Amino acid sequence: MEDPFDSERASLPRNMIENTMFEEEPDVVDLAKDSTAFPALEPDEVVYEPRSSRLLVRGLGENDLDDEEEDYESSARLLGMSFMNRSSTHNSSSSPYNRQAPPRLCSCPSARMLVVGVFILVLVASMAMALYFLPGCTFTKAGCGKANSSIPMEPSYPNSTNGELFPWNELRLPASVRPVNYDLSLTPNLTSMTFTGRTVINMTILHDTKRIVLHSSELIITKATFQVGEDKSVEVKVLEYKPWQQIAVSFLEDLKVGQVCVLTLDYAANLSHTYDGFYNSSYNDKTGAKRVLAATQFEPQAARKAFPCFDEPAFKATFLVRITREPGYITLSNMPQAKTTTLPSGLLEDEFEQTAVNMSTYLVAFIVANFTSITRNVSNTLVSVYSVPEKKEHTHYALDTASTLLHFYNTFFHIDYPLRKLDLVAIPDFLAGAMENWGLITFRETSLLVGNQSSPLDKQLIANVVAHELAHQWFGNLVTMRWWNDLWLNEGFATYWQYTSLMTEFPQLDLDNVFLGVRFKAMAKDSLNSSHPVSVSSQVTTPEQVSEMFDSVTYEKGASLLLMLKTTLPDGQFRKGIIKYLDNYRGSNTVTEDLWNSLTQVLPQQESVSDMMRTWTLQNGFPLVTVSRKGGHVTLTQEPFLLSADNATHTSNLWHIPVTYVNDNCSSAPSCRQIFTLRNKTATLNVSDSVKWLKLNYMNTGFYIVHYGDEGWATLIDALKTDINTLTPHDRASLIHNIFALSRLGRVSFRQVLNLLDYTTNETETAPLTEALSQLSSVYRLLDKRQEQRLLARMKVYIWGHFGQLMDSQDWGEEESVSRQELRSVLLEMACSLGRQNCTDQATALYDQWTNSNQTKQIPGDLQQVVFSTAAQADLRWLSLMEAYSSTTYDSEKRKILQALASTQDPRSIVWILSTGLEGGIIQTQELPLVISTVSDGFAGHLLVWDFVKENWDRIIEKFPVGSYPIQSIIKSTTSQFSTQTHLEEVQGFFSSLKERGSQMRSVQESLETIRLNQLWMDRNLPTLRIWL
Ligand SMILES: [Zn+2]
Repeated sequence: MEDPFDSERASLPRNMIENTMFEEEPDVVDLAKDSTAFPALEPDEVVYEPRSSRLLVRGLGENDLDDEEEDYESSARLLGMSFMNRSSTHNSSSSPYNRQAPPRLCSCPSARMLVVGVFILVLVASMAMALYFLPGCTFTKAGCGKANSSIPMEPSYPNSTNGELFPWNELRLPASVRPVNYDLSLTPNLTSMTFTGRTVINMTILHDTKRIVLHSSELIITKATFQVGEDKSVEVKVLEYKPWQQIAVSFLEDLKVGQVCVLTLDYAANLSHTYDGFYNSSYNDKTGAKRVLAATQFEPQAARKAFPCFDEPAFKATFLVRITREPGYITLSNMPQAKTTTLPSGLLEDEFEQTAVNMSTYLVAFIVANFTSITRNVSNTLVSVYSVPEKKEHTHYALDTASTLLHFYNTFFHIDYPLRKLDLVAIPDFLAGAMENWGLITFRETSLLVGNQSSPLDKQLIANVVAHELAHQWFGNLVTMRWWNDLWLNEGFATYWQYTSLMTEFPQLDLDNVFLGVRFKAMAKDSLNSSHPVSVSSQVTTPEQVSEMFDSVTYEKGASLLLMLKTTLPDGQFRKGIIKYLDNYRGSNTVTEDLWNSLTQVLPQQESVSDMMRTWTLQNGFPLVTVSRKGGHVTLTQEPFLLSADNATHTSNLWHIPVTYVNDNCSSAPSCRQIFTLRNKTATLNVSDSVKWLKLNYMNTGFYIVHYGDEGWATLIDALKTDINTLTPHDRASLIHNIFALSRLGRVSFRQVLNLLDYTTNETETAPLTEALSQLSSVYRLLDKRQEQRLLARMKVYIWGHFGQLMDSQDWGEEESVSRQELRSVLLEMACSLGRQNCTDQATALYDQWTNSNQTKQIPGDLQQVVFSTAAQADLRWLSLMEAYSSTTYDSEKRKILQALASTQDPRSIVWILSTGLEGGIIQTQELPLVISTVSDGFAGHLLVWDFVKENWDRIIEKFPVGSYPIQSIIKSTTSQFSTQTHLEEVQGFFSSLKERGSQMRSVQESLETIRLNQLWMDRNLPTLRIWL
């Protein structure tokens, strides 16, 4: 999935797992089998859980460790348990069901004692879990009445909707049954906004069991039949436990291993009015008439809202889909259409081919709409781009890009895309940026459609999203993470490939600068204590926890780590290892260790990739490398980069850091780069005495920050002042980024930051200037919210002094180079937003030309934002922009106009735009997070928008689920610029009052931590700024 919102600023790391902790995890289920006093655990209670988290879920109970301040790993250590082993060397077979192997016997006495110990612990903890988890309760006498510990415990089951015991008590499904094929028939009614369905699930029994448990949410099951083998099909009763979105069928006799069964369920439901499940959407066509459509968004856990299913990524199966429609509509699904039948009712039924591949439920998709398409053949695949009819002209760029990239990936991965068709569909109202459903990728219109006249910068955005989703057809669809804790295997890879494929195929799009910015952004988030490891070993079980995995760490840190690994390995080896990984696991599910093992297979002579990468994926945060030098001896020291110093317990964490460096004799060509692996706390490397300086982390491809000490920084600054080209633009950006980060950490003074920035009067390159301006602008915004008027005035003078000339010299005509477009849009947006006359005059003149020419005199695409935003500051122009917003059919333009409208400093307009965004209609609700973040940036709206979010919280989470990316974005943008104790307490008070409506979210912790850090930054730096600025 592609997230549509700008995410995350930064902060710092935290708890690390020592490598010595990676011991064997006692297998709870197996141990339990060995204990005759544990009758409750049957083989089919094995759930597909990564080894570590399964133990948590089952043994410790989610909420035992769910306290916001709790460190899961440390807690387990206190309990004397080592459950950090995520190694899958012995369970990495391609089958997701391999946890069903017969229990191994444990015959040694010490092991038996361990069994008893663990058993008691499990027993106690699972009672605690049940008590916490099922508060309402739902406990039956049979379940709750067994408090006497001398009587063997039976599991406590909740009550089903009909009052009977529900035969399962975990959020994860049992692994006793495996779905093989789904036969889905759906009849949506776009007038009543309802649908009916029939799901026929063919399954095999993997373990003797008396129950079949699967997912279903908001579906009314009207009939259920069950058939074993060739027996006659019989009607069965379906039990439902709504809190966990599960249904079950119980049997008196065991279903036996190897039996083949068929469960048929008829059901009815409403089309969803939110953005997930099978949902309805609408748009106004060119005559102004409202057109309705229905589409799906299942990732991560909403397939269960459209059809009953085993809705976990490891339950892969094949699917055959049939959809009924009215004439005048088309239907689309993952596979090509096989046939159409006219039903007696006059409706048409489209049947699609059965999927040629096994796939996870979250990748199933279908659409009923009146779209049109353009198509092209690429190798053996028919590529099509669909849109509403009036935007057909805007689909060509996406088709070209998708065709090129499909060919690229087919060749690069050595595995052809396996389906005969690939549709890319622009959906008028769609929340995510895009969704990689196999063969039927869905997009926001703004992520897929561009007019011919659009600027290369607009096209860059489309190319990015298309490249990301296409990469998922391999990373995610062909090879899927076993569970959501390893989501980075999908998203980190898709993000990595989106940049690398475009850098190869479309070098003119200048993606290397974008990727650099992404690495900085990932560090910002990962420098907070509230961050999490890329591969999460604590529990990811509840829907909120699963949703929260879709964040900057998973996407952007994941991609950054892959880049670091790639640049560390000898040329070509990374690709070889990746091809091996795809080949080893195609069609199945993986955990992170499977990836490292595949890479190690192609690199036998190298240090184990796994040893190195575990230090990066299982710990959150990243290291700070400090350089100190005495003559030819250079000492490197690593420590965690911890912004919040109160978390001192994890300072012993270590990484295997592939430290790269160049020196003054050879500093910019790739061949100058040398590499040294820092595994310990400290190490020394020797250089020639004549070397004047070293720059570490060449091109900033490593995920660490470097501190050169006072002397080291001074030498580097001198070198830059003498010859700016002594370092590559990426290395200059890297120095700017690092010194701001060190200043936040309190390791360098703001004076030193300003010393480095002095060189920028000679800077003309996009990467370093963008980084400098973005850092200065975040400082400016913080001061603005505190209304530090004198400092703001002086900061403006500072910015004009360093960048004013460059700002004024920017051309306002058409510009071909994407890199120069990026640069001038950043420069001019800052200039105009701070009121630089030269800029605002030009922008206003361009705007007036545009409106006076009835929008025929185009504004260059990269300047639209600055022109619209400047215009929006005047009342009359704001109103004319509002008209333009309603009438334009160009999606990228529309979005820029919306941002401009939201940037107004008029409180009445702000209130109007917020409530209109929430209402939907004139402004689609999908845009609300963008509106909120834009309003939050301005002084006039930042308190209004916080009030708005508090007052409308329940309506907001109705549209955007708790934990989801839009909610993360809303929390972040509305609170991240607070820097006072009063606001800290207010934010804390509000979120803790929400309880299950959001108080447990990681983004709440992140927000509180950010406010505290802002406070600290102000205390520390205001005096310096007053002196030095
Ligand atoms: Zn994605």
